[in-house]
This record gives sequence, structure tokens and C-alpha cells, in this order.
Amino acid sequence: MADVRLDGVYKIYPDGTSAVNDLNLEIADGEFLVLVGPSGCGKTTALRMIAGLEEISKGTVAIGDRTVNRVPARDRDVAMVFQSYALYPHLSVEDNIGFGLQLRKMPKAEIAERVAKAAATLGLTDHLKRKPRNLSGGQRQRVAMGRAIVREPQAFLMDEPLSNLDAKLRVQMRAEISRLQRDLGVTTVYVTHDQVEAMTLGDRVAVMKKGVLQQVAPPQELYERPGNLFVAGFIGSPAMNLVQGRLEADGDSALLTLGDQRLAVPAGLIAERPRLREMFGRDVAVGIRPEDMDDADLPGESAEGTVLESETELVEALGSELLVHFTIGAPPVVTEDTKELARDAGADDIGAAGGRSPMIAKFSPRSQTGEGRPVRVRVDTARLYFFDPETGAGIW
Ligand code: ATP
Repeated sequence: MADVRLDGVYKIYPDGTSAVNDLNLEIADGEFLVLVGPSGCGKTTALRMIAGLEEISKGTVAIGDRTVNRVPARDRDVAMVFQSYALYPHLSVEDNIGFGLQLRKMPKAEIAERVAKAAATLGLTDHLKRKPRNLSGGQRQRVAMGRAIVREPQAFLMDEPLSNLDAKLRVQMRAEISRLQRDLGVTTVYVTHDQVEAMTLGDRVAVMKKGVLQQVAPPQELYERPGNLFVAGFIGSPAMNLVQGRLEADGDSALLTLGDQRLAVPAGLIAERPRLREMFGRDVAVGIRPEDMDDADLPGESAEGTVLESETELVEALGSELLVHFTIGAPPVVTEDTKELARDAGADDIGAAGGRSPMIAKFSPRSQTGEGRPVRVRVDTARLYFFDPETGAGIW
């Protein structure tokens, strides 16, 4: 096993497309690192450069103690698992799993032993004689994993291995991959555009945008301390609400003006993030996560300065929670990051609502709110996020 290091790595395709831009990553021995970002952000290209399937334009990739820039893919001692499992339809499960070892002319007995061990780990022992067409999607995926495991490589490289599975199976296989990786302890780089997959699998998650690494951190840290607007909007579902506001000092605490409404920012939050004081008297980009809001008319405390008034426009009942859509009279945040997030979400009308910002809150299912009715939204103001409206940098 080995660590994987990328040092100042660039990929410029022959047509001039700059797909990866100065990527620096150190993936520790045994670590599970997830590369995540919207379609086209360069994550597959980065993975393929580690695998040796794509030439590196500039910089170095090292696996263990050797630089592999000039090492052909087959000699890099890494195993790749693709989205399309790339199984041989005419070969049995057993032969599919052992194929790479046969090519390497490994003794038959050793192949049989390794295949049997992998099959047992993956719950495929009873299916070894079957052909891929007689397997379920999840089982096919396991065969593809088996093929990677038997090679006992220095690292696993996985490119959206679950994206061909239905939602339920994806959740199940996600847990299996996580367990397997922990048991085997093999350094893993995993590419996905699905932030939930990234958060649940990764020891650390690297978020990319347009070829540039935005932040790399453990999942909880990405969620709690996003480095910029892009990461803030990308991690979390539904996405963090982003609106323009204005901060003013108010003794030890601060007042946050959002259009015609005001929230009180607790003194504790200002004390924790001293750089916020530099924003006093200036516009600031404010982030409120849907899960940090609830119906203020439910029993419980609603202190002054923690409630936004609006009208419910749409309620999506998910059983365990309600997604309540409303708007507030403060302009949306429009930066390069929020435009990229809107593009990724398939929306191109950001800012079209004039000076109002669309918001989504997660309400308790006990809420009685309904479409077209006034709504009072309680905000957990200790959990507000702030960003520089020009650079998009998180203010921590
Ligand atoms: P997806 O999830 O859609 O696969 P990705 O984040 O993995 O996206 P890449 O496939 O790495 O992104 O592509 C990064 C950028 O490089 C994109 O703009 C893409 O169009 C471009 N690109 C990829 N392959 C080539 C190529 N062979 N020639 C030119 N441009 C390419």
C-alpha cells in the first residue's frame, strides 16, 4: 500500500481545454479520498492522470516512493473501477475476477485462492460460475470490485462506480464499499458528482470547480466551515440559502439586515469569528442552511431577532420533514461561484426574481403551514454563515 501525491498537476488537452489547474493533493496511505464537483470540473481527468490513462501536462504524480509520470498504466500497481463495470460478457464471474491475474501469468492455484477470497469478501461465492448477464446490477458491481481487489494493488481508483445503480442499491453498495475499503485499508481515490456519496464515503473530500481545487477537508469540516461560496452551496441538500445582507455593530453582537427584515447575530458568533467585525457597515453574503430554520409558530422559544416573516409558496412533504419554499426581500448573491452552482443545478435564471431571494427551509412535519399562507420562520442565528461578497471567501 502507498500514499498518492499530486504536486502542481496540470492537464491541458490538445484542443487547449484546461481541465486540471495546479492540483496539489496528498492522499495518505490507507486514506479514502473523494474528488467531487459538478460535471466538467476535471475530477475524471485528475483520476485518469493518477491511473496513467492520461498524460500529465505539468507537475508530478507519485505513488508510494516513486514518481509515476513516465510509468505506463499497467505498471503503476493501481486498480481502477469504472462506472461501466467493463465485465467480459462471455466469461464467468470467476474468470472475470481472475482475468487480470491470468494475464499476468500468475500460477493457477494462487489465482483460485485470491478469487475465492475476494468472492467470499463480496458475497459472490455462490455465483462464481454465472455469466454477468445473469447477475443483478449490484452483483455486477461487486464483480468489478472483485477484479480490483484480487490484484492487491497499492491504490484503488474509482470513477463513479455506483452511478449505474438505482437509488436504493446505490445506498447499499455505498455502505459495502465503505466497509470493504476500511477492511482492506487500501488507499482509495473515488470520483463522484454526488455530494451525499462524497460526504458518506470520504475520510476527506476534495471539492473541485472548473479544474481548480476549492477545499479539501473531512466531510463535517466542509459542512461546518466551507472555505468559499462554491463549497457552501455544493455541500448540503437542499443547498444553503445565500442572500445579500448588511452587518452593523450592536454592542458585543451585531444586527443583520436582510432587505426589510432584521436578525440578531449572537455575541458568541461574533467572538468566534473576529474577522466579521471587518464587515460591519458593509454588504456581506449570508448563508442560512435549510436545516437551521423551522416554523416559529411551533411550540418553543422564538427570541426576538430570530424570525423571518414571509409567505409559504410551496410545501414539499418528505414524511420526516417539510421543505418550505418562500422568498425574502433581499437580493440573491450573484458571483462566479453562485452562477456555477446554478448551472450545475440546471437553473439559469438566478437573480430573475428581482430583488427577492428564493429560500428553502426544512420544517418539522408538525408545522401547519400551507401554500399561500403567511409564515414565520425561526432561524438558528448561531449557525449563520458569512462570506465576502466580492471574493466569495468564507469569513471565519
Ligand atoms: P464528468 O463528471 O462529466 O465526467 P469531470 O468533472 O469528470 O466531468 P472531466 O471529464 O475531467 O470532468 O473533464 C474536464 C474538462 O475537460 C471538461 O471541460 C471536458 O469537456 C474536458 N475534456 C475532457 N476530456 C477531453 C479531451 N479528450 N479533449 C478535450 N477536452 C476534454
